[in-house]
Amino acid sequence: LFITLEGVEGVGKSTNLQYIHKLLSDELQVPVMVTREPGGTPLAEELRGVLLQPRGEHVNELTELMLMFAARAQHLHERILPSLHQGVWVLCDRFTDATYAYQGSGRGMCVDVIASLEQLVQGEVRPDLTFLLDLPVEVGLARAQARGQMDRFESEQSAFFERVREGYLKRAKCEPDRFVIIDAQPPLEEVQAQIRQALLTRASK
Ligand code: C5P
Repeated sequence: LFITLEGVEGVGKSTNLQYIHKLLSDELQVPVMVTREPGGTPLAEELRGVLLQPRGEHVNELTELMLMFAARAQHLHERILPSLHQGVWVLCDRFTDATYAYQGSGRGMCVDVIASLEQLVQGEVRPDLTFLLDLPVEVGLARAQARGQMDRFESEQSAFFERVREGYLKRAKCEPDRFVIIDAQPPLEEVQAQIRQALLTRASK
């Protein structure tokens, strides 16, 4: 199974990624490879560095979009697909839904352009299951700011993240079979109980 985890800044992606990893390896006892986007291979991680570093130059939206897909092409073909072909489950921190949400809804890049790049890079490959951790933007941003690690994206205005959140929710509603929306506001144990139930239900199918 190809599982992805999505959400805006501060929703608790890293903590819950570790939790899902543990569920898969300890409870379901499946072989699992954990990875992230942008990144996941040495070249794609280099592109991640290029994408996330603040620089004194405006990054053109199309440049950003194509670098995201360049990193994804490398990651998908060199790492994700070989793992899936060997029967290893893949758990990925963000994937193409993030591109629709950030570059599409957030930055206003045309959905058709994103869809054609998706088609070019992925063909018919899509995640089997996507957890969307959802939280009001101001709560998430307050958490992210408290962590103090602000990259180029995290210094965006909250209106940008509102659009990203709405973009994610819209996609999730269009593909209810693939997406599980997790309310990330309650205490962590409750969030994880939601994740556990959804994962065990899906894995038993
Ligand atoms: O998932 P993580 O927080 O590590 O992602 C790094 C940064 O890249 C985040 O600030 C996220 O908002 C941004 N990003 C993006 N577009 C994507 C994927 C990630 O703007 N498609």
